[in-house]
Amino acid sequence: MAEMDSKLQELKTRLMEISDLNGASAVLGWDQATYMPRGGAAARGRQMATLGRLAQEKFIDPAVGKLLDDLTPYGESLPFDHDDAALIRVTRREYDNATKIPPSLLGEFYQHTAIAYDAWTRARPANDFSTVAPLLEKTLDLSRQMADCFPGYDHIADPLIDFADYGMKAASVRALFAELREQLVPLVRTITEQEPADDSCLKQHFPEDKQLAFGVEVIKDFGYDFERGRQDKTHHPFMTKFSLGDIRITTRVKENDLGEALFSTTHEAGHAMYEMGINMAYDATPLGGGTSAGVHESQSRTWENIVSRSRTFWEHYYPKLQATFPEQLNKVSLDTFHRAINKVQKSLIRTDADEVTYNLHVMIRFDLELQMLEGSLSIKDLPEAWHARYKSDLGVQAPSNVDGCLQDVHWYGGVIGGAFQGYTIGNILSALFYNQALKAHPEIPAEIGKGKFGTLHNWLRNNIYTHGSKFTAPELIERVTGGPLRIDPYIGYLKEKYGELYKL
Ligand code: ZN
Repeated sequence: MAEMDSKLQELKTRLMEISDLNGASAVLGWDQATYMPRGGAAARGRQMATLGRLAQEKFIDPAVGKLLDDLTPYGESLPFDHDDAALIRVTRREYDNATKIPPSLLGEFYQHTAIAYDAWTRARPANDFSTVAPLLEKTLDLSRQMADCFPGYDHIADPLIDFADYGMKAASVRALFAELREQLVPLVRTITEQEPADDSCLKQHFPEDKQLAFGVEVIKDFGYDFERGRQDKTHHPFMTKFSLGDIRITTRVKENDLGEALFSTTHEAGHAMYEMGINMAYDATPLGGGTSAGVHESQSRTWENIVSRSRTFWEHYYPKLQATFPEQLNKVSLDTFHRAINKVQKSLIRTDADEVTYNLHVMIRFDLELQMLEGSLSIKDLPEAWHARYKSDLGVQAPSNVDGCLQDVHWYGGVIGGAFQGYTIGNILSALFYNQALKAHPEIPAEIGKGKFGTLHNWLRNNIYTHGSKFTAPELIERVTGGPLRIDPYIGYLKEKYGELYKL
């Protein structure tokens, strides 16, 4: 036993050093996206690459493998949900993944995506797909090579999907999306046949400082802890974590669009509150982070959509918003405002899409990723394939590639494969988990209507946040809901909410 204790201690010490390197790199990344002067860019990229390489080298050290080999029987002798068992199990899984990809391939991949990302930042405003196309060819080739490090898959995208959403495969995501699509398409059609909601009330002038202050008040009420975080401005909002004691968010303000900063703030605060709720004992270990892309997104969507786009929420907050912006909003009714922030329309840009059409944007990208990986869609044909799918699925045509296949950073800064399905899985899960919280506490909506979020926050903390990565997403879903991932609570949520809004 004493021997196991000392081996476990050694493993934790090694994992902490790796976490320190990653935390330092995250500070550099946060600074790069917020305050760094332009002149720092080249060195910053190099510094982050160096830290990333050191962390990777330390993790794939055979000594870590030996410790895991020695500790595995001990881990398996413990109850499944014992912290030590989970630490050994989860670290083993990540170690096996990390050691299957040769460091040379990973190094080449990071070097290449840094170049591709940089090229994309210039190609997008210039509507210049042709300069990034050869880079994307190489990304596709490297993505296939990474997938091939995990032989035995059914579909070449499976290993890449598994990295982001463990336990999901191309086939299971396809089946899930097909089921969802069958429900969504008629709903989108019925809604968009009606007179579109008037959102002009959101497009007036709203001074930045007041917008920021209002958002901060809302997320303080949610339970975002400013003793363990802060909010700064950036171009593309994100959440980042340096340790479980320092979890930051960023936002973006548009003075002519009230929704931009507010919903980006509530979204990122949702991601951050998930991390803030993780058991502190897991800090600096592989358990001390969210368990999958989909579960993470479910928490941002809960606070952004289910809570802060609900009518109940605004019964409490709309008078406060009117008091903040009396000239702009005093003549705008709560109903008009609520319809405006939930306007449904067939549009070109995923990140601006409403709750109902959003998943159609994701499905397009998911299908195109699979086709590229399979080899049935070549990079040079991507722009046309993109336009064709937007025409058939959403009935819209982008005037150029800027609002077409150049719009999202994912393929230009990472792998092709597994990059998008987490968003829709997150939407589905947000309603599944919220539904479960309501079963335990039917008073939650009434509390939200009074600006009180403690019951919901506590339920999420106790049932989801605290576990960090102790359970995989499928295990967590089973534990929380007593069954597998299913779409009916999400469909029920959309039909009820938009049924009322559009009098369906
Ligand atoms: Zn998110």
